[in-house]
Amino acid sequence: MKNFLYLFFYSLLLFGCGGGSNTTRDYNYEFTGDSSDVLDGEYCAEIEYYNPDTGTNSTYTLPIEVSDGYLTRIKWSNGGWLDNSHFTEPEFDGDTTSFTDDRGNDYTVTIISDGSCGYTSYITPEEDDRRAIEEQQRKEQEETCPICYGSKSSYEEICYFCERKQEREQQEIEDHTCPRCGGRKFSSFEDYCDDCERDLKEENEW
Ligand SMILES: [Zn+2]
Ligand SMILES: [Zn+2]
Repeated sequence: MKNFLYLFFYSLLLFGCGGGSNTTRDYNYEFTGDSSDVLDGEYCAEIEYYNPDTGTNSTYTLPIEVSDGYLTRIKWSNGGWLDNSHFTEPEFDGDTTSFTDDRGNDYTVTIISDGSCGYTSYITPEEDDRRAIEEQQRKEQEETCPICYGSKSSYEEICYFCERKQEREQQEIEDHTCPRCGGRKFSSFEDYCDDCERDLKEENEW
């Protein structure tokens, strides 16, 4: 029931914040430890991570260290770890505990098996955050017109207004360019510029 409530809580966070990435990694463990025993040693746990600044909401399966019922360390499988220098050791209530680290990130830790996890995942929350920010920036860039910085659809090079403006400017140039000498002609109603008109007239007269 507790797990269900946490799931519900995290779904709320996920839908409430939007834009965040949600990475769920499957595991094949079943925590069979007697919950009346005091937890101590290494366990494999599911870590729900939430960064309120970036909206990143991720799930990891990682080994943790527990000392006398208190969480002391989360081991990232890149060799790094998060330990009690970054959070106040939270006590496990059954197989679950939660805490906020010194940077304001929220963690919910649920033990799923005794001992270390059987496989490694190489993504840390920092990496996940970085990817989420990059993705967001890429999307913003794709949807920004490089000329006026207004919004555009990602499959267009420039926005609708800038495209119309460029078309008008192109038409304007064509209307005022003499096809004979490339010089400027008065308007689209004339075929050639004044000089060329005179030249052509003289040629005809000769
Ligand atoms: Zn534009
Ligand atoms: Zn001309």
